[in-house]
Amino acid sequence: MNQDNACSKLKKAIILDTSALIAKYYRLLPRNIFEVYTTENAVREVIDRENREALFEAIDLGLITVSNPGLQYVEEARKKAIEVGSIHKLSKTDIEVAALAIQLNNMGYTTIVITDDYELQNLLLYIGIGFKPLRTRGVNTLRVYRAYCPVCGYTPASPGVETCPLCGAKITRRQF
Ligand SMILES: [Zn+2]
Repeated sequence: MNQDNACSKLKKAIILDTSALIAKYYRLLPRNIFEVYTTENAVREVIDRENREALFEAIDLGLITVSNPGLQYVEEARKKAIEVGSIHKLSKTDIEVAALAIQLNNMGYTTIVITDDYELQNLLLYIGIGFKPLRTRGVNTLRVYRAYCPVCGYTPASPGVETCPLCGAKITRRQF
């Protein structure tokens, strides 16, 4: 069996928000498995010199693709944020990250957003996109049982996910 048959949704996209860019998360990802994306505004928010230089080097090397979501996806993300009641707590960059996730998801990618932003995580859950916090424990204050990966902290948005698309570990549930 070749790798194409081993996994039903083969293409995997990771979207890094500003916090993930600053943490240089792009250095940790095997490029043969993941396509790594971020947005122009997320790049713009990385302001200190050392982090900026490292980031631009990674972009030049082709480790990260800087891509802005289509307007229809920005509108969709905004609409979802209004529905979930968090539009006033989310920045333009947050909305664009969510919009890019919707767009890549629609293109057939398993899409994972790396973010520590609680409001963005919440929006992604509502939309149906998995995410992974940089910190092993998320900042979720809701006492809810949620599926997550015990190894890397990935949180799937759809209930049927049994294997972590990031590290391959078995998804479990715990109280957050
Ligand atoms: Zn994992």
